[in-house]
Amino acid sequence: MRLMTHDFDSPAFRARYDCDEPLGSFCSWTGTAFRLWAPTAQSVTLRLYDTGDGGACRREISLVREDKGLWRYATEENWDGTYYDYLITVDGVTRQTADPYARACGLNGTRSMVLDLARTDPEGWAEDKAPVLPPETVIYEIHVKDFSFDPASGVPQAYRGKFKALCLENTTLRDDGEHPTCLAYLKRLGVTYVQLMPAFDYGSVDEGGAPDQFNWGYDPVNYNVPEGSYSTDPRHGEVRIREMKEAVLALHKNGLRVIMDVVYNHTYRPDSWLERTVPGYYYRHNADGSLSAGSGCGNDLASERSMCARYIIDSVLSWAEEYHIDGFRFDLMGLLDTNLMNAIRRALDERFGPGEKLMLGEPWSAGPTAVRPGTLLADKAGISRLDRHIAAFSDNIRDAVKGSLWSADAKGFVNGSGLDTARLVNCVRGWACGPDAVGKAPSQNVAYLSCHDDWTLWDKLVHASGGKPDFTVCPPELLRQNRLAAALLFACQGHLFMLSGEEFARTKLGLKNTYNAPLTVNRQDWSRAWENRALVDYYRGLIALRKLLPGLTDKTPQAGQRVLSVLAHGENCAAILLDNTGGDSRWPRLLLAFNAGDAALTLPLPQGTWEALADGDDSFLWRSPAAVTDKASVAPVSALILGQR
Ligand code: CA
Repeated sequence: MRLMTHDFDSPAFRARYDCDEPLGSFCSWTGTAFRLWAPTAQSVTLRLYDTGDGGACRREISLVREDKGLWRYATEENWDGTYYDYLITVDGVTRQTADPYARACGLNGTRSMVLDLARTDPEGWAEDKAPVLPPETVIYEIHVKDFSFDPASGVPQAYRGKFKALCLENTTLRDDGEHPTCLAYLKRLGVTYVQLMPAFDYGSVDEGGAPDQFNWGYDPVNYNVPEGSYSTDPRHGEVRIREMKEAVLALHKNGLRVIMDVVYNHTYRPDSWLERTVPGYYYRHNADGSLSAGSGCGNDLASERSMCARYIIDSVLSWAEEYHIDGFRFDLMGLLDTNLMNAIRRALDERFGPGEKLMLGEPWSAGPTAVRPGTLLADKAGISRLDRHIAAFSDNIRDAVKGSLWSADAKGFVNGSGLDTARLVNCVRGWACGPDAVGKAPSQNVAYLSCHDDWTLWDKLVHASGGKPDFTVCPPELLRQNRLAAALLFACQGHLFMLSGEEFARTKLGLKNTYNAPLTVNRQDWSRAWENRALVDYYRGLIALRKLLPGLTDKTPQAGQRVLSVLAHGENCAAILLDNTGGDSRWPRLLLAFNAGDAALTLPLPQGTWEALADGDDSFLWRSPAAVTDKASVAPVSALILGQR
């Protein structure tokens, strides 16, 4: 337990020490500067090294304390490429630390690096622009390593699992020249955003160790530096930066925007650079002085504390500016506070234009957290206080469609849970997290069926089907359930999100939490992607169709009123009439019908000329739609989407 000698939240402390000067190290041809915020320190020593790991310190420099708890050193020499750390003495205890504001680092991030960042820009970076905002947000969540680690990916061995693999435009399955993988596959699929699971520097993988180590990476070490194990050379700090920029550049060139998964709720170890620099300041503590751990990972960052909030805002802006990142997914957003989230929204809007950068997050935490009284958390209860352009993952939709994730055999609508129609209508309305925590508009809703957490959609369907599970085979009845689930997802208002491989019945062999499971379990299995190409094409058709349907892409607060009526409802079916006017809509009204029952559902149609746009087998019917009159038949375990001419 730590002795609390400072009241960090007192107005006096804030007035004396809150500061907005740029922090970190800065280097250009005019010189090099170091600025560290350490208000409680008695002394700070800067230590310089020639290498990012190993080797002795070649010079020590005492920093000078100035106003606001700032410590500084400046020289007219250009120290580009120099590695450094600090010795900081607080309350008589001296600790070694890297710079919490480091923008570059050596192997495993234990030393920071002075770097002229302009030197890391790949060719064409100055002209790099994100693709124009797409008609729909369709997010595809990948892990940099598992995405291309499979030898069948066709990616050359040296690039497998690296940022470099994201730059290859023409990879094919086992190099057969026929079946696109990786970037080419994503282009064909039609998703509009790629979400990178943690790509900042994390601690659970030894960057100098074996190439087949695996971790999801929710264990931040350096918040403002890319992860070294995704680079071809983690020992030279500039390489990971250049290679991540190259990946963003390639994704942008190929029409894909890039979201980063950011984990500002906790650090890998409580003994982080932040803690070593200003002990006690950056974390929440329980009344007894112990660390709050609502993250389930041993510590919670105190996002409500002013200089911690500033740190997080600076970090987000740094990724958006330096790496051209287009969106941020906030891990356990329910541990961050609404003031911070809204401040990030404002900062991004001011810098890049309203709505240009996407913000989404998990509106929950792993457990209770010790916040200062009066702090409003960005959890489900906080959604209504968030800016309309901060979205939250909807566990309501996820669980309604496929069943609760707390029990393997729990069923959802698609496998016969007998879901009530009201809940389904709420899903289509894109109400974030259900009627008990209603967002202001579908712009606050992330509709999804699966993400990296918990079972893949396929594994969940297999578990819930009963009997002895076999995850590797794909029986037709489960594929029907999967297609119905996908059709439901693509009929929900809100931003759409999917785990990579959901569209090819990705399996993790029934395992629920694979954060450190071997790559044999976690790797994106490119052979399976082509074995299940019919399912892939079903998703592909839905993605393309979705972009044509203003009734579903509408993110305004009025979007919920587009639900005109519920035409059929029962235990295992629902049919919803939707206003689809706007833009150059080809179909002013839509009929969305879902049948999870064993028997076909006969649906009398409202007056007018109707066309089948997608059914349970084919999501490309809309390309040459056939007319349907009087009544429609919805096959067992399938969806039918009709458009009125
Ligand atoms: Ca690392």
